Order: sequence, then C-alpha cells, then structure tokens
Amino acid sequence: MTDYILDRKQLETRLAKLAETPYTGEVSFGAMCYSPMCIDKEITYECVACGESTKSRIYAKNERSHKKIQDIVNELKSAGFDVFLDERVYCKYCNDKNPDENQYPTFMIRFDSKDFYHKVESNSRYDYLCLNAFLSGCDYFLDSYDVTQPLYYNIDCIVKMTGLTGSAVEAWMHVIREDRRTEFSEFMRKQWEKHKSEI
Ligand SMILES: [Zn+2]
Repeated sequence: MTDYILDRKQLETRLAKLAETPYTGEVSFGAMCYSPMCIDKEITYECVACGESTKSRIYAKNERSHKKIQDIVNELKSAGFDVFLDERVYCKYCNDKNPDENQYPTFMIRFDSKDFYHKVESNSRYDYLCLNAFLSGCDYFLDSYDVTQPLYYNIDCIVKMTGLTGSAVEAWMHVIREDRRTEFSEFMRKQWEKHKSEI
C-alpha cells in the first residue's frame, strides 16, 4: 500500500526538500529495448465522456501510454486526490477540432476544494510517473525504459504537473535548472562506469 501525501503544505515542504537533496539511491539503466514507434494506423477510441467511438491515428500512437496514464490518474483518485483527466481530444463528438490533430489530454489537480484546478496538457507517461512518485513519497521513478529518474532532477516536471511552488523551487526553476541537467548527465555517467566495473 502506497502512502500518498494529500496535504498541500506537506507536499510543498516535501518539494522544497527534494529540490535541495541530491539523490544517492540506487540507479537502474533499464532494458535497452525500445518499442516500435510511428505506428501509422487508426484505432478506435471509446470516449469516457460521451460513450461514442472515434477512429483516430493520434490515439493509435498514444494508446499504450494513455492506458498507463489512465491507471495512474485512477490510482490517484482512489488515494483521495481531487484529480481529473479530460481526454475528449481523442473524441470527434466531444472535440470540435479534428481528433487527428496533435492535441493532448488535459490533467487537472487541486489540493483544496476552495482552490481552482491546476491544469496541464500532457500525454507524456514520463510526466505522470514523475507526479505519481512525488505524491506517493518516493524520491525517484522508473521511466518507460526502466531508467531511474531521481526527482531531484525533475523538480520542473513536478511543478508543471502540480502547480506547487515555494522559494527553494523558484530558485531551482530559475537559477540552477540547467546546472542540474548537466549534473544529471554526469551523475548517470559515473553510475554507469561504476555499474560496468561491477559486471
Ligand atoms: Zn466523446
């Protein structure tokens, strides 16, 4: 059973701490196999809002990732979070634009019923895995390739997905974000060398 943190203040404190605490845990480099991309076919999307079916190329490309995203959002809902995934972009009945244009579902979250929802458009599994790790008290997550992604290097992604902020986070976002990217490459390189020497 995962211990989710629902309270906004506690989450902000946690985010500030994460932004300042270098990751020292285990690292996985994942399996070096990549799933085939660029599937050019149409599949049917069953709309969760209106129940109609739409044949969509965009949905065909996103299907696997989207199912994982739905799972994560449902898990957050069961944990008690006020979250919602608006995926009407895939439905030609709910969407006044062409469902084959590149559009993203909208994720919404709020930590208090008095707040407005924080809204973000994303179809990236990475974003939702990162969000889930943050809310569930982990300090890393495994991305789609099973590579370890410490939250310390993903503060911007957490901010994008939650709308949470704070002074430590502001500093991270505006001053040290690029340094962190370089630091992360260096960190992974060192870990990789250590890993190679052990096998
Ligand atoms: Zn619909």
